[in-house]
Amino acid sequence: MIRAGIIYCVNIHPYQLIAYEPLATALEAVPGACVISQAEVWDAIGDQFPRTRPFMTPGLYEEALNSFANNLSSGSYPCVIGIGGGTACDSAKFVAAHLDLPLILAPSALTVDAPFTDSVAVRREGKIHYMGPIVPTKIVIDTALIQSAPPALNRGGIGDLISIHTALHDWRIAADRQGEPYDHEIARCSAEILKTLERHAHDIQEVSEAGIILLAQLFCEEVALCYEAKSSRPEEGSEHHILYNLEYRTGKTYLHGPAVVLCAILAAHLQGNTPAYLTRLANSCGVDYMPESLGIGWDALSEALLTANEYTQQDQLPYTFLQAFPPTPQRVEAALNWLSKHGGERS
Ligand SMILES: [Zn+2]
Repeated sequence: MIRAGIIYCVNIHPYQLIAYEPLATALEAVPGACVISQAEVWDAIGDQFPRTRPFMTPGLYEEALNSFANNLSSGSYPCVIGIGGGTACDSAKFVAAHLDLPLILAPSALTVDAPFTDSVAVRREGKIHYMGPIVPTKIVIDTALIQSAPPALNRGGIGDLISIHTALHDWRIAADRQGEPYDHEIARCSAEILKTLERHAHDIQEVSEAGIILLAQLFCEEVALCYEAKSSRPEEGSEHHILYNLEYRTGKTYLHGPAVVLCAILAAHLQGNTPAYLTRLANSCGVDYMPESLGIGWDALSEALLTANEYTQQDQLPYTFLQAFPPTPQRVEAALNWLSKHGGERS
């Protein structure tokens, strides 16, 4: 059971927490910290930190995380440090809350917005649940380390930004049909993030230092707008819900960023919301979001789109176009045909 956040203040803009410094410096500053990483990440970067012995996360299943955290509770640590992608950062958040310790996060690649948010995404019976709040005292952005990750990881990070396009459309539908409060200024600022991304797509594609800094800044902006909206409406809607349903149905997890891009393109098509804008933006950032590249079957994708409405209602997820205009077999087929014809580098 997670306790209240250690340091929680919605007024903290996540950008204030960022320290651009080498991870080695951050590690030296807190000897004896409880370091949490993930095996595939540590295999790639561990040689650079020979004195650090991290615990490897068991993944994001709540039961496994609980026993992982209970085993760690016998140690005495000054803080918890999470090093890796979204899984390592979310695991570290969970453990820090469990042990009531300060938290430092050091993403090894900018694959998701998880290092910048105040919630933990855990899986329970195959479904995603958010817990929190838990806010780090510092987010270490070691640009050289992040640049050394496979380029596809950082390029795919734009998934949690591209999702703004479909999420804002869903938010408007929820406002129109359900009377949900809608903030025009927050929506305008969120859409601005996409315009900035468009202008600097080359830096993302190149995975340049400027591109890494920009991604970190845009994640912070997006998270701050969600804090202001007091919901994830500015960033998360049907595109994430479709992905959650896909992962639930297949029992697999997919590389989050590019998978969100894929689901956002399909959601945009079904929303009648300029999917070509998203394919252009994703292509210019160099993201490979085609199902084959992500290990996603077209049939599974079709099934996930057709049953997404049912999933969102069962899980009582926020209202989106999926409930307002449930995708029909004809519209799903049209969306998938459009993707196979216009998706990828060819568009
Ligand atoms: Zn996401």
